[in-house]
Amino acid sequence: MTRSGRDTPWRPVGDAGPVTYLDHAASTPVRPEALEAMLPWLSGRCGNPSGAHRLAREARTALDDAREVVAEATGVAPGGVVFTSGGTEADNLAVAGTAGDGPPLCSAVEHHAVLDAVRRAGGRVVEVDGCGRVAPEALAAALADVATDGGSVPLVSVMTANNETGVVQPLAALAAIVAEVSPGTLVHTDAVQAMCWLDVAALAAGAHLVSLSAHKFGGPKGIGALAVRDGVTVRPQLVGGGQERERRSGTQNVAGAVGMAVALRAAIDERQRTVEAARARRDRLVAGLLGRVDGAVDTVASSATGSTVDRLPNIAHLCLPGVETEALIVLLEQEGVMVSAAASCASGAMEASHVLTAMGVPASLASGSVRLSLGWCSTDADVEHALAVVPRAVERLRAVPLRG
Ligand code: PLP
Repeated sequence: MTRSGRDTPWRPVGDAGPVTYLDHAASTPVRPEALEAMLPWLSGRCGNPSGAHRLAREARTALDDAREVVAEATGVAPGGVVFTSGGTEADNLAVAGTAGDGPPLCSAVEHHAVLDAVRRAGGRVVEVDGCGRVAPEALAAALADVATDGGSVPLVSVMTANNETGVVQPLAALAAIVAEVSPGTLVHTDAVQAMCWLDVAALAAGAHLVSLSAHKFGGPKGIGALAVRDGVTVRPQLVGGGQERERRSGTQNVAGAVGMAVALRAAIDERQRTVEAARARRDRLVAGLLGRVDGAVDTVASSATGSTVDRLPNIAHLCLPGVETEALIVLLEQEGVMVSAAASCASGAMEASHVLTAMGVPASLASGSVRLSLGWCSTDADVEHALAVVPRAVERLRAVPLRG
């Protein structure tokens, strides 16, 4: 492997060389086949898909081919796919584009792209259990509350799987409750984290709207989609040229859409193998860390009350008492191991995670929480390195008294 990574362009690397990357839930390398497929659309194949000549038509065809792949992966018709700039825009479009007179509802553990859009639309939050799942009864009660106040709920948004803990929501049961109790209400699911690992078309069969983001499954950053079921109207949030059937104006990112589609197809084709490999490595990582770090707890397992909890195969979430997450991340980074506090945060500021707060994780545990996430290109060496480095780092930090 060269320092530039020319022979293995997908190997996570920084200015100082390759790293042990355990932050794939934040973003994962572009798959080589996606990169290759994108390159012509970033250079000579420059047609604008809205144009009238041959190069434009070819770009439009490439876009529509990509649309079909996304449609199949989400279970909607190709015309229902709206390309966006990523998961955040897809989530915002789902919420703002369906806003009505009443309050939209979402779970308390949604990504801020949903949570903040719901708050802005005057919506309400549905509480979760200790594992971060919405109970169908809690959703039914929230819908009934709005109805008692004389209102109607335009949209319920519950993510397919959580970005911090990997916990999978009982989406089919929740969609069934909505259909029964409030048949006029749309269901949206943010499948940004789930797409790489789960059969989203099947899981989201009861949802009207599904959000995706390419950079979570081996496509490039800056492209995603909102998949909209037939007959559902989404009001545009960006107006102008009327692209994407008047639902999202702006010249489409053809290279991005092509890369997203190729990555998505690869992720689906290889899913069984990557799921098994990631689960085995994740389980080894968790078991190893629980065994080597005194007092370490698996955040989700320790909150589970009897029933088994479905989780993504690639995410480990641990609480390490007696350390502060920020300090741990810095120390691990010095050893070449990249992990995350929970959700990565644009400002770099670490705040108590709203997900852990909603799950009722005590602040004393949450302050030492860490997410380690594997990806399609993770290796055994990543796990071994983390197992060697994390316990040492925790020991060093515990030797220093905590602030405050
Ligand atoms: N939703 C979830 C669950 C996510 O994990 C993320 C990114 O971390 C987003 C939405 C936002 O997606 P994007 O980074 O494409 O804007």
